[in-house]
Amino acid sequence: MAGLEPTPFIWFDGKLVPWDEAKIHVLTHGLHYGTGYFEGIRAYKCANGQSAVFRLRDHITRMLNSAKILALPCPYTVDELCKATLDTLVANKMESAYIRPLSFVGYGGLGVYPGDNPINTIIAVWSWGAYLGKEALDLGVRVKTSSFSRIHPNTLMGKAKACGNYVNSVLAKVEAVQDGYDEALMLDTNGFVSEATGENVFIVRGKTIKTTPLTSILEGINRGSVITLAKDLGYEVVETQFTRDELYCADEVFFSGTAAEVTPVREVDRRTIGKGRAGDVTKHLQQEFFKIVQGTNPKYQDWLTPYTF
Ligand SMILES: *Cc1c(COP(=O)(O)O)cnc(C)c1O
Repeated sequence: MAGLEPTPFIWFDGKLVPWDEAKIHVLTHGLHYGTGYFEGIRAYKCANGQSAVFRLRDHITRMLNSAKILALPCPYTVDELCKATLDTLVANKMESAYIRPLSFVGYGGLGVYPGDNPINTIIAVWSWGAYLGKEALDLGVRVKTSSFSRIHPNTLMGKAKACGNYVNSVLAKVEAVQDGYDEALMLDTNGFVSEATGENVFIVRGKTIKTTPLTSILEGINRGSVITLAKDLGYEVVETQFTRDELYCADEVFFSGTAAEVTPVREVDRRTIGKGRAGDVTKHLQQEFFKIVQGTNPKYQDWLTPYTF
């Protein structure tokens, strides 16, 4: 995973400011208490030479739902944030990009109650290749079931892409990486498979694809795209709970997410999944997914917001 390569501008509360000047005070509420919410979106260079953002409106709508869940209202509308995202991509002349909108409780009081503190919003864009490594997309990743459970909705609410929620993901990710794995698989508090630290999970058996129900997971946009795509390609897709022993015995396991795209899983808890490399169904879905984001499948044109600069 590459470090952050600066781009010229970050959108900050309505203005494009130079990357190095997009700064906040160290006593910002969100820094202390994780009071904020964000999105991860990708823009791709399309086969026709244009660029397009993948499911922009769906991501921004989810961001405003995160605001609602956290009761920390975002000062901008969906339309305003969609436009700001495109403006930021254009200002930075990004042919493809990872896009990170974030709203957070700003500087003011430091009581837990956010009070009258402002809510600040930024949109940053940068180049970010394959999240789990280029070879991960071809060969698959090695995964460890975490000793940490996925957050329970009575403690933190996993449907919000809330800053504070990611302490749970960081605990699981650090444990997995320190133990020599690429990614962590988290179970819910009842012991059923939930999701990874920033990816939803699918298992394949024959022509049937299973993914976890929405109860304990972040409702991934890519999860939704994969479900739609797989059904359109004739696979049976079932949203149902399953356990890690069922996952161990699946023909294929894969992750979906904006950062990870469609990433095969080749090993879980030192058990080889299927043939120990990307399975045929995973590869099929991955290839079709990349065709869609690159604009070569007209059926899913609605998912793309083109932009030019
Ligand atoms: C962002 C995220 C996902 C993936 O969501 P996408 O909308 O597909 O990018 C899955 N799980 C968690 C915990 C996430 O934060």
